Amino acid sequence: MKKLIQILFIIPMLTLSACGQSNKKEVTKNNNKTMGNVINKPNNPYYSNTDTKKLNVSNEEWKKILPPDLYAVGREADTERAFTGTMWNDETKGTYYCAVCGYKLFESTQKFTSSCGWPSFFEQDNKESITFKLDKSYGMIRTEALCGRCGSHLGHLFNDGPEPTGKRYCMNAVSLDFVPFKESSTTETIVLGGGCYWCVEAVYENLDGVIKVESGFSGGTVENPSYEEVCTGRTGAAEVVEITYDKTKTNLDEIFKVFFTVHDPTTLNRQGADVGTQYRSVIFYKNEEQKKAAESIIKELNDNKVYSSKIVTSLEPFKKFYPAEDYHQNYYNNNKEKPYCQMVIQPKIEKFEKIFKDRLKK
Ligand code: FE
Repeated sequence: MKKLIQILFIIPMLTLSACGQSNKKEVTKNNNKTMGNVINKPNNPYYSNTDTKKLNVSNEEWKKILPPDLYAVGREADTERAFTGTMWNDETKGTYYCAVCGYKLFESTQKFTSSCGWPSFFEQDNKESITFKLDKSYGMIRTEALCGRCGSHLGHLFNDGPEPTGKRYCMNAVSLDFVPFKESSTTETIVLGGGCYWCVEAVYENLDGVIKVESGFSGGTVENPSYEEVCTGRTGAAEVVEITYDKTKTNLDEIFKVFFTVHDPTTLNRQGADVGTQYRSVIFYKNEEQKKAAESIIKELNDNKVYSSKIVTSLEPFKKFYPAEDYHQNYYNNNKEKPYCQMVIQPKIEKFEKIFKDRLKK
């Protein structure tokens, strides 16, 4: 703490027809996938989340191993009914694997909710994940999407997806296994608001021990607000970042030191020219430990008069985090030439890099 105090003193859609998936025979089984466990398929010797070697297994063999609905879609290119199960609009963070062979296909960050009713993605995990084939069935010309490892049918690729790729990987939920991102005992998340999230995100991205930073919104009364809604200042939500960090490499104390170094916690509902409750200085604590640590550092900084005015950072119990639209993620790195990045974000990054020079990611 003493060191921080010294430091701070020193440097103050789509329609169903557009989707174009047609059914040979509809697979209607309600595909509510179990979400929560690493997938173990003892009856499927080819299933692996790590083996990338291409498979050449006959349909005869697959038929013995796979459940009928998965065999019908994966090996006979059938299509499940739209809006089957919950995967089409699920936004849980995690990884999507081929349900036939376990090969990694997508991250949840590449997913978007399409009104077509099938799980939709705008990008694949890597260029090997999915291969393509011209599909002239049913009098249509489409691009069939196949698992890059086992060659099983997944769905189709269309060119009517969102930015940045404009692609829509329209997948059958039955073809996908989902493993949610799970916080391990050494991983923790905290949600902080320090004005414009572009700035805060850019800083924490460079701190050693930080695994992931996502820009979004917390607090307020509106479910899943858009950036435009939050900008009105009427939702009660604040621009925040959700920081996932490895507790063996950094800790709450350091996370807070960075926080109180790179934003001004003394201006109520304001950071520089950004004014409104959406820019309030706020810590959304998830447990008593986070709350106490926050109270403690704020008291220390106030007692030692580190700032000329009193800290107005609010402590609010965490309820929900809503990720911001894709173009807000990694904004600084993607828009370094923009005046706001150069004039507002860059100085904060430089200050952070100077003070925490020994704590930057290598
Ligand atoms: Fe596969």
